Amino acid sequence: MLTWHVIDGPGHGRFLIKTFHEQFKNMDVTTMVKTAGKDLIVKDGKVTGVTAQDEQGNTIQIDAKAVTVATGGYANNKEMLQKYVAFPDTIMIGNVGKDRDGIKMARKAGAKDEGMGVLQAYRPGLPDYAPNSHMLAAARQPYLWVDTHGRRFTDESNVIIWPHSVNAFSKAGGIMYSIFDETSRKHYVNDGIDVPIGEWVIANTKLTKFDEELQKNRGFVYKAQTLDALAKAMGVDASVLKETIDQNNVFVAQKRDEVFNKNMDYLRPVKTGPFYAVKMQPAALGTLGGVKINEKMQAINKDGNAIPGLYVTGNDAGGMYGDNYDLLLGGGAFGFAMNSGRIAAESALDYMHFKKQ
Ligand SMILES: Cc1cc2nc3c(=O)[nH]c(=O)nc-3n(C[C@H](O)[C@H](O)[C@H](O)COP(=O)(O)OP(=O)(O)OC[C@H]3O[C@@H](n4cnc5c(N)ncnc54)[C@H](O)[C@@H]3O)c2cc1C
Repeated sequence: MLTWHVIDGPGHGRFLIKTFHEQFKNMDVTTMVKTAGKDLIVKDGKVTGVTAQDEQGNTIQIDAKAVTVATGGYANNKEMLQKYVAFPDTIMIGNVGKDRDGIKMARKAGAKDEGMGVLQAYRPGLPDYAPNSHMLAAARQPYLWVDTHGRRFTDESNVIIWPHSVNAFSKAGGIMYSIFDETSRKHYVNDGIDVPIGEWVIANTKLTKFDEELQKNRGFVYKAQTLDALAKAMGVDASVLKETIDQNNVFVAQKRDEVFNKNMDYLRPVKTGPFYAVKMQPAALGTLGGVKINEKMQAINKDGNAIPGLYVTGNDAGGMYGDNYDLLLGGGAFGFAMNSGRIAAESALDYMHFKKQ
């Protein structure tokens, strides 16, 4: 059974960073915040330091026996998204300042790429809607999703193993509509949702902000009294949409989905107007492609050799997920970030001791 493993303490992840920071106070460690790494210093093929810029714009040179790059990937770099990602408009949730700095620095030092286009694919999303939005929570319920032709394209309940849902609708063209009727809207608002959206909107939450969010809708939510009007607003062929909905209603009545064999708990009729369609795009929690590394977290160059003194971790490193994010190991991305950092530090220590002999 899937469950959440959340860091115990106020602010979750922030609490962990704070704990590290407290530890550093008792160690011979200097932490420089608001200081951006800009470039790696390379001498005779070895990385020997980094140049950085402080808050005042001063350039600082830090000499080092080894450098670890850990700047979190390129989720906020539009040019890179355009170049590498199948749907560059993918909504990047919760990412700030992930501009590819580390990948750029490592590339300049001769590092090779791996798995550049891989994303930490999330659930279908809506631009400018916060992850705890009630409209999003309604639209992410696994009832009836259609592509831009008005046809179903997946077992909607794969939103529970969420990368599958984004993978499915990426294959279906990268735009989908979640369809529901007034009876379902009332169910969401009065009884609560059946499928939780992470810990952002938990199961049984009554979507009391649905109507308020509908009023503020910026063109992604369509409401119509008839299915013909809904299809027109969506820009899909009304006969195809109605055929899909009729088929859905047959599956509900017979308690069996003959197309995708979806769990019958997630079959709901679409019968009572007004009807709703929410237009959605892929969303992701970050990028997972970057620098090719070996098992010691050393950056690998184009000839397949490790670049001495250069280590790359977390979302700046590629290859952890092959060509696709998955949920086989909950906390895997965060766990990799933590443990790749640990392994890089251990490897760098070995390297430095080796150099001393
Ligand atoms: C909303 C959300 C939910 C998530 N949920 C999960 C989950 O449930 N399970 C899971 O396993 N993973 C989850 N993740 C993913 C996980 O948080 C990341 O994979 C992980 O934090 C990546 O760690 P990192 O060290 O590579 O990068 P980050 O944690 O992003 O840290 C990189 C840091 O580098 C800084 N930086 C950037 N450029 C520079 C520069 N030039 N110089 C100096 N510093 C720089 C950034 O400001 C940032 O502080 C989630 C991510 C998000 C956004």
